[in-house]
Amino acid sequence: MPLKDYYQILQVSKNATREEIKKAYRRLAREWHPDVNPDPQASERFREINEAYHILSDDEKRREYDRILQSGDEKSYRDFMEYIQDFLESIWQGVRRAPRAKKGQDIRLKLELSLEEAGFGCEKEIEYERWIDCPDCESLGYKGQVEKIVCHACEGAGRRVSGIFNFPRPCSVCKGRGYIIKNLCPTCGGRGRVAKKARIKVSIPPGTDEGEVLKLVGFGHTGERGGESGDLYLRVVLKPHSVFRKVGKDLHMERFISFPMAVLGGTLKVEGLGGEKLEIFIQPGTECGSTKTIPGKGFPSSSGAGNLVITFRIEVPKEVGPSLRGILEKLAKELGDDGVETRAGLVEKIKNLLPL
Ligand SMILES: [Zn+2]
Ligand SMILES: [Zn+2]
Repeated sequence: MPLKDYYQILQVSKNATREEIKKAYRRLAREWHPDVNPDPQASERFREINEAYHILSDDEKRREYDRILQSGDEKSYRDFMEYIQDFLESIWQGVRRAPRAKKGQDIRLKLELSLEEAGFGCEKEIEYERWIDCPDCESLGYKGQVEKIVCHACEGAGRRVSGIFNFPRPCSVCKGRGYIIKNLCPTCGGRGRVAKKARIKVSIPPGTDEGEVLKLVGFGHTGERGGESGDLYLRVVLKPHSVFRKVGKDLHMERFISFPMAVLGGTLKVEGLGGEKLEIFIQPGTECGSTKTIPGKGFPSSSGAGNLVITFRIEVPKEVGPSLRGILEKLAKELGDDGVETRAGLVEKIKNLLPL
């Protein structure tokens, strides 16, 4: 961490008087003010010039800075840097507070879609929270004239002595300001910002896939004090479907067919993802677990839809009436399946169990 040479920044000698420092500061601040200097480095330079001035124009801080500059002691040097960072931060908060606009942060959310919504596109209404400037205090954090009370912990110094070097550190109670604001805005609790519910309609293009990110420019947190709003990023997550399982661009489904249809073949009516009626030809002798692929009836996408893959299962009735039982027993006999439990065999068994 190189120690900034504030004398060099202000273009003055190490033993410059307060008056010389002030004059140098005024000249450089005018030259580097970002409102008049188009150089992209201007605001950084302006900041540095102000930093240098605030340190060197304060006798106590200048003494500390000079001592560390001479000693080259790294530990006290780090402490000093930390201390002036906080000190400067409190200066900048005062400077920045009113006029400076700031871009709002981006918001990242998950967007859950059904396969139909993602596949065919839709208008989706979403609700979320975004930060806006507090409407009751113009984002200042207090109402009306600011009322400050001296910080009880540091007695207004903004820092307290601690550590082995007896080095003053920023006061944690007032965050180095030396004062506490009494009339905090009750709406935002002094933050200057409040959360507000936003409801927007998002147009989902057809063929939107899992993991895709939709960017909505300007729908993130609003900018501070008139700054540009951040963006909203929606990452698509597809919800599980009751019928279809998505595998890449293909859609997989299972269908039960009856034993006669599996044996004899026939046509089966199936509904696609979009509700379209499809007639599927079942090959005679279709086995349980075999599949049929219907091209172009899978998940829609801009590069062409995937396939629909149907896996067939054979339906086994849990209960059979007397007439169906008769037919099945006949069939078993025809097929030579003598292990089948026939009604005659069942009656025989029950008889044997009863006492004569
Ligand atoms: Zn304090
Ligand atoms: Zn407020």
